[in-house]
Parts: sequence; structure tokens; C-alpha cells
Amino acid sequence: MLPAMPLILIAEDESAIADTVLYALRSEGLEAEHCLLGREVVPRVRAGGVDVVVLDVGLPDRSGFDVCRELRSAPEAWVNEVPVIFLTARNDEIDRVLGLELGADDYMAKPFSPRELVARVRARLRRSQASGETGQITTHGDFELDREGHRIRFRGMALELTRYEYMLLAALLQRPGAILSRAQLMDRGWDSDADSADRTVDTHIKTLRAKLRAAGADPDPIRTHRGLGYALEA
Ligand code: CA
Repeated sequence: MLPAMPLILIAEDESAIADTVLYALRSEGLEAEHCLLGREVVPRVRAGGVDVVVLDVGLPDRSGFDVCRELRSAPEAWVNEVPVIFLTARNDEIDRVLGLELGADDYMAKPFSPRELVARVRARLRRSQASGETGQITTHGDFELDREGHRIRFRGMALELTRYEYMLLAALLQRPGAILSRAQLMDRGWDSDADSADRTVDTHIKTLRAKLRAAGADPDPIRTHRGLGYALEA
């Protein structure tokens, strides 16, 4: 069976923009669906098959930021991981996207070239395909994340990680290249009753880096984005 054609969901209330984007995506051989309202996005993604979401920040019923937050906190990991490209109209929106407090994968400021948007969508698709996924195993470069076994292997060798180190690296591995803020990493890695309020994400990243170095990861695959958070080399 041939693999399904990549499907892009675009949430945009300005029909002229939506039509242009749909046309550009379809003429490049991608499948594209359109919705007008923010509340339609998460149910559509959870129904399956959506590979990338192109999300207008200024939707009529709720902001694209809220929609993205909903996606990232849905119960299904694969819903959390669907790449999001924001469409922004105003500078203050761009500032918020750049802060990446929401785990956006990319953004385009209006007016934009549909061709450029298609190129960005393709880049996201390539990145998802490069991180091959089979069942509970996600591979990325030399890493292999076994979610069921709660193990991460590097070049075939299981890393000896603490629970926090595992959760931080697993969060980074699930979205290679995306910058995750300390708050997002805390959300993913710490229980609400965590007794480690005095320990910071930075401390665990530091010990994690030391273990990766010891395992032969050179250069350091974890990038620090000052003031923003951490990302795994894509
Ligand atoms: Ca709009």
C-alpha cells in the first residue's frame, strides 16, 4: 500500500488567504483541509491523519495560541507532536510566537508568499519523516526512545538516566529542533507534587549533558537558547 499523502490542516478565517494557501498546497501535491474556527482544530487532529497544522493566530472564536496550547496538552502524545506553523498579522503576535512559550514549530508573518509557506510545510514534513516512528519506538539520529520501556538508547547502548533526565530527553526527542521552554519541560517532566522545587531544569540538563558526553555524544546535541529554553539538534 502506498503511504498516505501528507495532509495539512489550515485554520484561517480570511477566505482569500485560506483559498490561496489551499491552492498552493494542493498544486504541490499535498492534501489540504480548511476550517474557520479554532474549536474545530483539536477534534480534527485527534480524528487522525493530519501531518501539519497551519494556524492563524487571529481566529474568530479563540486565539491560535489557545488552540496550540490545547493541542500540546491533549491526552494523546501524537496529537501533542503535530507540527504547528502560525500565521501572524501583528508584531505583538510575532513576539509571542518568537518567545515560543507555546512550542510553535515555525511562523509566517502576513502578508506571506504561499510558495514560502509550502516550503516551510515541506521542511516540517521532512523533519517528521526523518524522526522515524514505529509503535512505541521513536528514533532520531543516534537516539532511540522506547516509551514503553522508559529507556533511551544512544548508538544502541541504553543510557543510565534518572527519571527527570529521562523525561527531559524524551520531551526533547519527541520534537527535534523545537525550542522547549523551561516551563514546558517542567510540565512534561515533573509531577504536580514534585518534591524538587529547588531543583531546576538547568541542573538536570547539566547532568544529562555529562552523561551524553560520556556516551560519546560530541558535539553536544542539546542546544541552549538563552532566555527561551532548550532544543535537540534537529
Ligand atoms: Ca484571522
